[in-house]
Amino acid sequence: MTEVIRSAAALRDRVAAWKRSGMLVGVVPTMGALHDGHLSLARAARAQSDRVIVTIFVNPMQFNNPEDLKKYPRDEAHDLALLEAGRVDVLFAPGPEEVYPEGFATKVTVAGVSEPMEGAFRPGHFDGVATVVTKLFGMTQAGRAFFGEKDWQQVQVVERLVRDLNIPIRIIACPTIREADGLAMSSRNVRLTAEERAVAPALHRAMKGAAGAIRDGQDAAAALAAARGAVLAAGFASVEYLDLRDAATLEPVATVARPARILAAAQLGEVRLIDNIGV
Ligand code: AMP
Repeated sequence: MTEVIRSAAALRDRVAAWKRSGMLVGVVPTMGALHDGHLSLARAARAQSDRVIVTIFVNPMQFNNPEDLKKYPRDEAHDLALLEAGRVDVLFAPGPEEVYPEGFATKVTVAGVSEPMEGAFRPGHFDGVATVVTKLFGMTQAGRAFFGEKDWQQVQVVERLVRDLNIPIRIIACPTIREADGLAMSSRNVRLTAEERAVAPALHRAMKGAAGAIRDGQDAAAALAAARGAVLAAGFASVEYLDLRDAATLEPVATVARPARILAAAQLGEVRLIDNIGV
């Protein structure tokens, strides 16, 4: 049975009891509309913790686009059934007033890694992420937190945050789960039309092509330009960025001396897709 908890106080009591008996608590923060990507995180948490909390909170503070927030898919009953099947102990699904009560006045800002790419194209997004993640870590008191590499920049922001604020939690990054055609799973994919869905895998395909070319010693700038062109030619409306970056610092790099990643965001119809791949 997955217990549904909506208040921070009730969650604290439940976790305190677990911790008194020496259990290691794992948390998987999500915004719901769960898919196999989320469930792979829950499985990793199950394997590496004694008790597992999945949180579902569509965090208004991290949405820079009100329309995106309004249209964000929500289906808690279906999510709960998936969590039951995944043997998750607690679904923590607080309402907005529980997370941001009257008078809430604090914002967590991580400089540096949060500034380029998603930070540049979605102003305020990572402040919202860093603030809610700090709160969720405080509310769950978990010892391990599981995040997806799908949101690579987010993982770097959260790792910086827990180091800088001495939050006693270990961040575990898990691989991106993809559809058979390579499209990274995302809650937003359900908003693609059938036609757009057929175009969507072009993003990953182009990134994979560029990663292979760079690995083979081709000029990175040329490979990235070709990938941007391929994404647009496939039918995407725009490519916000498709860059080669240092995997940890997210600084732009021209060659691959240390671990590097291609990260991209592109607009397809009304949906903004992001993805990343190691080089
Ligand atoms: P979200 O509900 O989109 O905020 O995502 C919640 C968590 O699931 C984040 O850590 C994401 O990186 C992770 N996640 C989302 N999609 C995937 C995916 N396709 N594969 C692995 N993890 C994912």
